[in-house]
Amino acid sequence: MKTIAVISGKGGVGKTTAAANIGTALASEFKKRVVLIDGSTITSDLGLHFGIYSPSVSLEDVLKKKVPILEAVQAHVSGVKLLLAPLALSKAYLDLEELKEFLNELESYELILIDSCSGLGNEIIPILELCDEVLVVTNPELPAITDALKAIEVAKRNKVLVGGVVLNRVKNERYELSVSEIEPFLNARVIAVVPEDAGVREGIASGNPVVLNSPNSPAAIEFKKLAAHLVGEEYIVGFFTRLMNLFRFRRKPVPKAAVEKPVKEAAVKVEETLKKVEKVEEIKLQPAVGGEMHSLIEKKKMKL
Ligand code: ADP
Ligand code: MG
Repeated sequence: MKTIAVISGKGGVGKTTAAANIGTALASEFKKRVVLIDGSTITSDLGLHFGIYSPSVSLEDVLKKKVPILEAVQAHVSGVKLLLAPLALSKAYLDLEELKEFLNELESYELILIDSCSGLGNEIIPILELCDEVLVVTNPELPAITDALKAIEVAKRNKVLVGGVVLNRVKNERYELSVSEIEPFLNARVIAVVPEDAGVREGIASGNPVVLNSPNSPAAIEFKKLAAHLVGEEYIVGFFTRLMNLFRFRRKPVPKAAVEKPVKEAAVKVEETLKKVEKVEEIKLQPAVGGEMHSLIEKKKMKL
């Protein structure tokens, strides 16, 4: 059993999207036994990627010893098992440190994938203590890369292996930082380059990760290649898929009306869940880790 956490530093770069898609691809495509855990307990939204708005059993029930962890993991149609945090803001954050004693019970699984929180405050430290390795998700722009550098530094200080960087939402615009600029800056390998792809957002709206919802879309292919890499396998893209994507004969987007109804229903369910808001405890932030980035900024300025 290996435990990998998906971290970033900056929020909104695609951690939850990456975790949802890697887990789903590993279970459905590569038939691996995977548990996906929502470690972002304050801003928990992993369930939304799977169309689950209010998990019947949650991480909180496990930590409070109400439900054994093996019974709390929920099976998704793709085969991936989910251990979700409650969507409602019930308290500052669940103490994930306590999860350690329960993880042994998941030893029959090959991979435990933890979707981490944004920021590098108190919530991330227990996650780093739980995992063997981190994947760092970032976008090809300075604020995201700078925060990725801090995330890598925090992981290293906590003696966690950095498995690689996932560069997400790449549009190949001239102002974007390239892999050859990012790798030396982060001193880490970029192991996946995932393009900006409307299929990702379409998948979230439909309650199914893009690897299931549009399995041949450019982002889905990259997530499947990444999943394969993580388990030492290879994902071979079919000839027709390559041809279709080459000429961008993309599958027609889902008509608006088809997405509108489920999205509205989902919004109502989410609203109902969020009504249960309680007081948020104070969160103390850890001091940020500094990084050297001037040369990178200067180089980029000269290029533009
Ligand atoms: P994080 O977990 O790091 O905060 P999310 O995974 O929630 O970030 O991603 C934020 C949003 O970015 C998603 O809701 C989705 O709409 C969008 N997104 C992520 N990756 C992609 C992508 N490759 N192409 C298009 N949109 C994306
Ligand atoms: Mg997230």
